[in-house]
Amino acid sequence: MTGRDTIAAIATPPGIGGIGVIRVSGPASAGIARRVFRPFHPPVSFLSHHLYHGEIVASEKGAVLDDVLVTFMRGPHTFTGEDTFEISCHGGPLILRTVLAEVVRAGARPAEGGEFTKRAFLNGRLDLSQAEAIVDLITAKTPEGLSSAIDRLKGKLSGRIEVIRSGIIDLLAGIEAAIDFTEDDGIVEAQVADLSRIGDLIDDLRSLAATYLHGRIIREGVGIVIAGRPNVGKSSLLNRLLGEKRAIVTPVPGTTRDFIEEVIDLDGIPVRLTDTAGIRPPENAIEKEGIDLVWERIAGADAVIVLLDGSRSLTQQEYGFLGEMPAKPILPVINKSDLPLRLDEEKLRALLPKMSPPFLKISAKYGDGIDRLKSAIRELVLATPVEETAGIMIADLRHKAALERAAECLVRAREGLDEGLSPELTSLEMREALDSLGEITGRTTSEEVLDRIFANFCVGK
Ligand code: GDP
Repeated sequence: MTGRDTIAAIATPPGIGGIGVIRVSGPASAGIARRVFRPFHPPVSFLSHHLYHGEIVASEKGAVLDDVLVTFMRGPHTFTGEDTFEISCHGGPLILRTVLAEVVRAGARPAEGGEFTKRAFLNGRLDLSQAEAIVDLITAKTPEGLSSAIDRLKGKLSGRIEVIRSGIIDLLAGIEAAIDFTEDDGIVEAQVADLSRIGDLIDDLRSLAATYLHGRIIREGVGIVIAGRPNVGKSSLLNRLLGEKRAIVTPVPGTTRDFIEEVIDLDGIPVRLTDTAGIRPPENAIEKEGIDLVWERIAGADAVIVLLDGSRSLTQQEYGFLGEMPAKPILPVINKSDLPLRLDEEKLRALLPKMSPPFLKISAKYGDGIDRLKSAIRELVLATPVEETAGIMIADLRHKAALERAAECLVRAREGLDEGLSPELTSLEMREALDSLGEITGRTTSEEVLDRIFANFCVGK
């Protein structure tokens, strides 16, 4: 695209690494490359998409700043669609800052967060849902999250949206023809047939919107708090689920004072597990504060594992806190199954009327029942079974809202057709549905929304 300035940024993360990359994009790229880069074997002319070895030289005193590899890529076959060049420097923060400063001195402007991807979108190299997938790709926490983001980057979501859009466009064409030729009987019949096609499109939109829960969980994960009185084995359970010793396990009640939070990959779902201080009557102000914080954590969690010691009867305290549990998914788990069972499951059932025995029994110490616990956690956090949402998933609330709006428009359009309302009204609803879908791919997204989306990207992306 013409009329834009040239932007530059460090594309690799801060800190020390083998190499660090500076990225430059815009019409002045070639000129800037010529100004700052001195190749060891000067070519007759620089070829696009070729790698050159040389050095970055400061314009003022001619000092060599770094020994680098440079690639110049001519637009439009580049990520941004513009002329681009990348400098692979040695990966030190000072080197990168110095080379970037030299590039800026030579005519570039420091890029803002997400500006490279925004240019790729504005230049038609990616649609909006693909651009958003890049953030999910970079921040994916599990292989499933990664493959879902890659699917979206490769355009699978956009492809599905396009299929639905063209279905709506076909219907719209029929209806708009009917506006012009209302006396034509054949067309009125075609409209009646269209009612079932609208139904199919509504189903498509709704089932895609329904993948949001699963998609969001895979992208963002869920937070689960392990709660229980001291010494029931909370730290042992966290360690067991992590597969290594992290939390401190001791026979002294109340060792876990601060929260220990770890992320485990539970068959593709990133689960943030928090081990909490034991819930017990506080003996002093500090303990009270600690236990208040446990309740805060419980309030903020997506689900709670209530861990109980099976080798002892339920205590008054446990009666107390089980009664106070907030209304959210709760998984009671009886630990120490390697010891004789003394906990009365019927009494526990009375406290948890929605659940029935046998309760899940595990031994955090020896590992019995851990696989069953993992499946139970998975079921707890996934309202919809995985099989039902296999395939394309949406992970963004913005996409879900747009799909639901489009479905509502089609429902109103169907009602209109059904009740014999004027085709003009039906056609307006359908056009609105198209606009809603266009917001997902960026066809009809406002500048303000675009700015908000790209503000989530880091500088250099
Ligand atoms: P927390 O205070 O709830 O975090 O409990 P810990 O994980 O620190 O465990 C307290 C004590 O219970 C330690 O001595 C553990 O070895 C022991 N423990 C934990 N899980 C089991 C289990 O499954 N079986 C048995 N026999 N002991 C366990």
